Amino acid sequence: MVQKFICGNLSTGPDGHLFFAGQDTVELAQKYGTPLYLMDEDLIRAKCRLFSRCMEKYFGGRGNILYASKAASFKRIYEIMREESMCVDVVSPGEIYTALKAGFPLERAWFHSNNKSDEDISFAMDHGVGFFVAESFEELIAIDKAALDRGSKQKVLLRITPGIDTHTFEAVDTGKVDSKFGYAIETGQAEEFLQLALSLKNIDLQGFHCHVGSQLFDSDVFIRSARIMLDFMANIKEVYGYEAQQLNLGGGFGVPYVISDPEPDIERIMKETADEIRSLCDRYGLEMPEIGFEPGRCMVADAGLTLYTVGMVKKIPGFINYVSVDGGMTDNPRYALYGAEYTVLPADRMGDECKMISSVVGRCCESGDIIQPGVPMPETMKRGDLVAVCTTGAYNYSMASNYNRVPRPPIVMLSQGKNYVAVRRESLDDMVMLDE
Ligand SMILES: *Cc1c(COP(=O)(O)O)cnc(C)c1O
Repeated sequence: MVQKFICGNLSTGPDGHLFFAGQDTVELAQKYGTPLYLMDEDLIRAKCRLFSRCMEKYFGGRGNILYASKAASFKRIYEIMREESMCVDVVSPGEIYTALKAGFPLERAWFHSNNKSDEDISFAMDHGVGFFVAESFEELIAIDKAALDRGSKQKVLLRITPGIDTHTFEAVDTGKVDSKFGYAIETGQAEEFLQLALSLKNIDLQGFHCHVGSQLFDSDVFIRSARIMLDFMANIKEVYGYEAQQLNLGGGFGVPYVISDPEPDIERIMKETADEIRSLCDRYGLEMPEIGFEPGRCMVADAGLTLYTVGMVKKIPGFINYVSVDGGMTDNPRYALYGAEYTVLPADRMGDECKMISSVVGRCCESGDIIQPGVPMPETMKRGDLVAVCTTGAYNYSMASNYNRVPRPPIVMLSQGKNYVAVRRESLDDMVMLDE
């Protein structure tokens, strides 16, 4: 059977087994147990190289690619980013600490979050995080004070809301005027934010940041952001004589989860955005700033796949079929959170016809614990079979919980025909580790 797969790193073996990154998922499930997160390290590295090459080619290397590490944060991923000469975004002391433990050079880290406490700010400064992206007046003042206390100056970017509605999920739509992130140009608050930054002696203002959303499949939103931001920067230069060195356009590069999703052409998006920025800078008489991009999801999503073992197949005549698996919203809360779509495959029965429309559900005590509804599964599916959920590399492990005291699965990395544990499986003792 010839099948079009959702990711290029999927294939079917001769015995109907699903292969991922060239390795037999049935063998991997036997070796490591389920539920199991798999990650294709070679694909992650290929993405890093693609972005770096585009930065070189279209921006003349004047800028940075920052992996938004909230998409998947664990030591090994920061090691890979270090080896690939990437920069990273971090959003908490937890992510900073993980990067630190992985030997990531923190001067190449940008610290985000719309609510950095005084402790967070101190922690990041004391560990030498290179750049802070400030999101509020209060925070900017706190950063200035922390820098003063240390007799240093802190490099800062200001988060600006360009007022763009990307019409993707509410939960990830971050660029609108009424967003909790940053300040809008439209309301005049962005300008007040700049005035404050320029007045603070221990703030070394580097420029501006915006991030408008996620699952963007074309260059249009990046181009609209660039237009609004460069127009703002040109005005600022005229009024305050301040010329920004950095303009960070955020992340949000889309990823196909189901066959009907488009496949974004990252190279074309980068090229078209660069062309637009160049011509805008010419028009405004601005020197081209260093451009930052912050891909998170697209760096790791299709490098991930989750394997589960089926516990039951329940056919309720005239109603619905359930396939329940040994994980669920604990390792992948995205359908429960915002109805995210996924492609689900019968990993040990790839040759069987899939006609039984089923809800693939987890093991948690919640009716909302659904991995994906409406999935065609084979009639032959039974307890002990394997189910694969594709494209789970982003916002799965990083959003996982221990609800119902379910231990989190391990992350097994796949590279050049080999496999190894990057994050071990949580044990039952881990479940009571913090209990006094
Ligand atoms: C989440 C986030 C990103 C990454 O978004 P993706 O959709 O995963 O690419 C980048 N920048 C900021 C500020 C973010 O909050």
